[in-house]
Amino acid sequence: MPEFAQYLSKEQEDELRRIANAIVAPGKGILAADESVGSMGKRLEGIGVENTEENRRLYRELLFTSSSNLAENISGVIMFHETLFQKDSNGKLFVEILKEKGIIPGIKVDKGVVPLAGSHNECTTQGLDGLSERCAEYKKAGADFAKWRCVLKITRNTPSYQAMVENANVLARYASICQQNGLVPIVEPEVLPDGEHDLEVALRVTEQVLAFQYKALADHHIFLEGTLLKPNMVTAGQACSKKYSHEQIAKATVTALSRTVPPAVPGITFLSGGQSEEDATVNLDAINKYKGKNPWSVTFSYGRALQASVLAAWKGKPENVVVAQSELLKRAKANGEASMGQYAGGVAGTVGGESLFQAGHAY
Ligand code: 13P
Repeated sequence: MPEFAQYLSKEQEDELRRIANAIVAPGKGILAADESVGSMGKRLEGIGVENTEENRRLYRELLFTSSSNLAENISGVIMFHETLFQKDSNGKLFVEILKEKGIIPGIKVDKGVVPLAGSHNECTTQGLDGLSERCAEYKKAGADFAKWRCVLKITRNTPSYQAMVENANVLARYASICQQNGLVPIVEPEVLPDGEHDLEVALRVTEQVLAFQYKALADHHIFLEGTLLKPNMVTAGQACSKKYSHEQIAKATVTALSRTVPPAVPGITFLSGGQSEEDATVNLDAINKYKGKNPWSVTFSYGRALQASVLAAWKGKPENVVVAQSELLKRAKANGEASMGQYAGGVAGTVGGESLFQAGHAY
């Protein structure tokens, strides 16, 4: 008889399962508002607003105090460390504001991508040192889930075996530490859209990256029912000359996922990855309409595709706050419909079909 070491208690498993399922409840998804200070600076620069702590706070206040209808389509919000401890203009913690709306607070716990020595310009993600203590602190502060992003690049030589093993393993270690501290880990191995590769190549690479990922999660005894996957949709490289339909993208995406992601995983929460707001919504809708093997909730965890129109409408001006908030509600509703394959189309925001691609995107 093999002896298995205890990983989680029954109570710990139940709590993780409950949180994960609440995040992917029907018609709901995640607002990724966890831009680091540097990434937020780039977003604010785009609308001519200075990157100060107060401006970042004002912007997040705008997002989180949008009408209580926000919770109809937003189940969770991912925050950056600074934001988790910030308050609104009346002195109320953002965490409390979200919880009162029925929105689950989440926290980005990685410390960013770093070069992977000996590889062709590939990377890994750092942040494991002290992670258990930070997770305990975040749980105490009200967070119930976490995010860690790794990136894989498609070129002639990559992703390499080295990069796939390393990134899968670091995500599995992160997932293990989160689960032991009561946080549902969102596992995010993002295959970047940079490149000229076609849809077939994107499918092959995404499938392989996800296969490495689930092997590593199994190696680390991760409780899959208490996790969420945040993958890229399978799309051709951003500079590919061929154009593909939403249905082709949906088919390739469901194919990659169905070959690799166990049905025990409660939900897939896609990143938007530089797609325009409208493409991110229509592709999510097409994936949910696609009749393939699709046993999970399939929804969104968008950053750029939920916020581009909001930022463009706000421009840092108090008189624009209400209009900017209505942009957020519009996109949240459209994506909520898409997560059930019920998006009728045509809900264009201020920036609508504009590409949100940034080369080698950092977060
Ligand atoms: P985008 O939706 O902007 O790709 O980002 C989501 C995210 O959280 C990436 O880590």
